[in-house]
Amino acid sequence: MAHLFQVDRVRLLCSCGLLKPITAIYFCRHCLKLRCGNCVSHEVDTLFCPNCLENMPSTEARLKKNRCANCFDCPSCGHTLSTRATSIQAPNPDDSSKTVARKVYYLACTGCRWTSRDVGLNDQTVATGGWAEQDNEHYKYLQSLLEHYRSVAQREKVERERKRSSYRKSSYLSLSEKYSLSPSSMIGRKSLSSFSSLSSKGDPGLTSELTPCEAEEEVDGLPDNIFTEDIILSAVTTMDQRMASPEWQPEETKALYPLHKHILVKRSLRCRYCEHNLSKPEYNPSSVKFKIQLSAFYHVPEVRMVRQVELKIEKETNVQISLCNPTPHDMTVALLPFVPEAYIAALQKGEEQAAEAAASSLNTSSLVRVVEIPREEDDLVLTADVALPQGQFVLSARDDTAEYDDQDSNSNYKDDPQVVAWRRANKVGVNLLVTPKKDTERAVVGFILRYDYTNTVATATESRTVTLNMPVVVDVGPVDKE
Ligand SMILES: [Zn+2]
Ligand SMILES: [Zn+2]
Ligand SMILES: [Zn+2]
Ligand SMILES: [Zn+2]
Repeated sequence: MAHLFQVDRVRLLCSCGLLKPITAIYFCRHCLKLRCGNCVSHEVDTLFCPNCLENMPSTEARLKKNRCANCFDCPSCGHTLSTRATSIQAPNPDDSSKTVARKVYYLACTGCRWTSRDVGLNDQTVATGGWAEQDNEHYKYLQSLLEHYRSVAQREKVERERKRSSYRKSSYLSLSEKYSLSPSSMIGRKSLSSFSSLSSKGDPGLTSELTPCEAEEEVDGLPDNIFTEDIILSAVTTMDQRMASPEWQPEETKALYPLHKHILVKRSLRCRYCEHNLSKPEYNPSSVKFKIQLSAFYHVPEVRMVRQVELKIEKETNVQISLCNPTPHDMTVALLPFVPEAYIAALQKGEEQAAEAAASSLNTSSLVRVVEIPREEDDLVLTADVALPQGQFVLSARDDTAEYDDQDSNSNYKDDPQVVAWRRANKVGVNLLVTPKKDTERAVVGFILRYDYTNTVATATESRTVTLNMPVVVDVGPVDKE
């Protein structure tokens, strides 16, 4: 079963100090460092509906509350609703004594068989659209709240711009983004007055005043019939169903209403230190390809456990791992001992320096936001000692035609049998001697993978091949108590 959990068993230590499997980590070819989801900038590239795959600009998406106008989700189970057609007998407009067959459409869920007819919604005469929107009794109050937060956002923006007047660019992300403050909307309407008052008095004030809600000691009692009538559970909505439409929160299933489908986004990821893209999808929502995809999977040798072995406390056991070269260049690899505490300390120092350099450098925009990322300390506890093979070996380049090759090219390498257990195309097997420490349930070992990386980003100043150190933590498996 060991192979099933490879992803969780072998993890790389990201430059931010988090352990991540190779499939969830990126490699910045410009900084030559690992970056994970926690330490990159996430940017929205495309907004699209996952059902009809229509993409829309962010302003339109914001107006539509990030929901698709034409696609609906089942309010009962959340599955996508599909449009069903049926014909009904309708009175003939020319002769009221006769009837004609007419095609009508309703929404039905193929998952739970809920239909729009269940809640008494009238069938539509057109296949798409036409469904009336529900009126919200709190609409006015919500609008006034929005208005208020718009002015809060505006104040925040003005304050920030004042503070950062020395910076070249300012960040447009945050509240002003959320409440659609464009420069023109800011200068329009009431805001103009606050702008002028601001510049004269220098005190940013709120343009809209809102009386905060007050908590009440007394709440409304339960309805009388709750004590006298039997509860029919199938007629009452679940909490999930209620929360799926926060504006209405229907309590009874007969009040469920089709939900507009949520829009999804395609994200691109950017390195926070050098601002290069690490991942950028193609714009078209129906395309699953990437323009840029710097997954570590394509740049860092992949470490796998070959098979599960039985481990015993304080007993040295041979554990075999394999290393695989995903790049089209040969790599010289060595395994070095890994001391987490020393490494993390060095890492943090390096990151602080990098952050300072980024903050002081003038040509970095506001995108460089280095935030403190909480680390899971327990993750980095190594519960077993490991004896690593001494010496280095060559991991040959990936060759897609190697599997068709009858000739064994492995004899070209003069491998030390003490280091290399076996060799197959761009893979090499290595033996580790693992000794679980006292009172441990799982043996976790760590080592530093040192390898020569051939950088395909050719720059005139840097040499193309660099030596990199990647800390790898392997969960070797459960340890027998005996
Ligand atoms: Zn990270
Ligand atoms: Zn849609
Ligand atoms: Zn359903
Ligand atoms: Zn970078």
